Amino acid sequence: MFEDSTIVALATPNGVGAIGVVRLSGKNAISIAESVFHGKRLSAQKTHTVHLGTLKDPKTNTLIDEVLATLFKAPKSYTGEDIVEFSCHGSPYVLQQVLTLLIKQGAVLAQPGEFTLRAFLNGKMDLAQAEAVADLIHAESETAHQTAIRQMRGGFSNDLKNLRTQLIDFAALIELENDFSEEDVEFVDRKQLLKLVEEMLKTIQKLIHSFQLGNILKHGVTVVIAGRPNAGKSTLLNALLNEERAIVTNIAGTTRDTIEEKLIVDGIVFRLIDTAGIREATDAIEKIGIEKTFEKIHEASILIYVFDASTSSELEVLEDLQKLKIENQKVLLVANKTDICDEQALGMLYYSIIENFSLDYPWFEVSAVNKKQTDELKEFLPALILNDKINTDQTIVANTRHHAALQDCATHLETIKEGLAQRISGDLLAFDIRYALHALGTITGEVLHDRDILGSIFSKFCIGK
Ligand code: GDP
Repeated sequence: MFEDSTIVALATPNGVGAIGVVRLSGKNAISIAESVFHGKRLSAQKTHTVHLGTLKDPKTNTLIDEVLATLFKAPKSYTGEDIVEFSCHGSPYVLQQVLTLLIKQGAVLAQPGEFTLRAFLNGKMDLAQAEAVADLIHAESETAHQTAIRQMRGGFSNDLKNLRTQLIDFAALIELENDFSEEDVEFVDRKQLLKLVEEMLKTIQKLIHSFQLGNILKHGVTVVIAGRPNAGKSTLLNALLNEERAIVTNIAGTTRDTIEEKLIVDGIVFRLIDTAGIREATDAIEKIGIEKTFEKIHEASILIYVFDASTSSELEVLEDLQKLKIENQKVLLVANKTDICDEQALGMLYYSIIENFSLDYPWFEVSAVNKKQTDELKEFLPALILNDKINTDQTIVANTRHHAALQDCATHLETIKEGLAQRISGDLLAFDIRYALHALGTITGEVLHDRDILGSIFSKFCIGK
């Protein structure tokens, strides 16, 4: 079995750093470490202690590095196994030497996520918590970070545990009832069961509902900035980012490819995409850019349509909006270049586009070069996709696997509800309850033993975690 092996990996990122940590975990972690470590005898030391020493190749007696060895003895360690961490000097060459040496002494290179997989298998954390570790590593904003921490500490799992226990109680009673089926008794108060099922459905629906937010926190929101050449898309992108990133030119159609930048507002990551201008393609390269624009627009959640308010007519704007074939996107209309625009003309434009056609798109009047109203535009973005401010105390489902399991569970709960209404027999009810329990159990890992599924979950981790 692979848990018999002692695994090793670099626990810090690749590349040059002040220090680099090499982590060993497994039954032989301490003896393998001892075979190359010169200082104190590690096996004789207490857990959670740090020791200075040198690493030498026992065959050639070559000195490899001066290190600190940190000792965690089973079961009080991240994986639940013996762990030794060597804090070495952070040169990739030295770290490679240390890894090679430890592999020579009997350790095997860890698979991605294998340390956390072992932690899960040793009952150090449940599956939802283990997955939160991966989310934490990849968190790009503070809110995503907070959500992952909360889940890692058991927030999400606790909510589910409670629901699961209540349902298990009912399952037990129903099974008991089935044992007495000859006598036609009912141990389970159907009304009470219905009440619990409805309560559970409410909680689960809330969790399912939070997935939209979870997804936003985890992956960010794609925002496409589109408009005709020279409308000021690149300038607006720079103003929103407060940086000079996109190339600004006054030759129409020069932003040929798409540029993606990250903007964080209220803890949400917005991926801003500047696109090639919308107009008839004049040459082949421009055409590719335009096709890409439409592709990006249809993938995005938010479309910021920018037009030059000093030159555009309402017909041009309306024609573009029609061309853009907006389907599921939230749309913002941005009248740019208000610094060189007549106020009355701007008012007319607003009237003939928004009022006249009863459009309910938010309308912003900005001057991208002067950053006038661009901060207001930025602050407005979260409200487009969220009804409320994010509350990180709330349990948020951010994992596709969990979301699917919750939906599965909800379906079975609905079946129980229908079954109760139709007064179906106890053994059929028991069947549906077991299905619902199974769905919940797959989230925390109670009923998940399939190595393939575990492998695919943990393979998303990086090596060394
Ligand atoms: P894009 O083709 O839509 O990306 O447009 P650019 O951002 O490259 O801008 C085209 C030209 O319009 C540049 O010369 C910008 O300096 C100018 N421009 C952009 N925003 C404004 C603005 O708010 N006011 C004025 N007066 N000029 C602007």
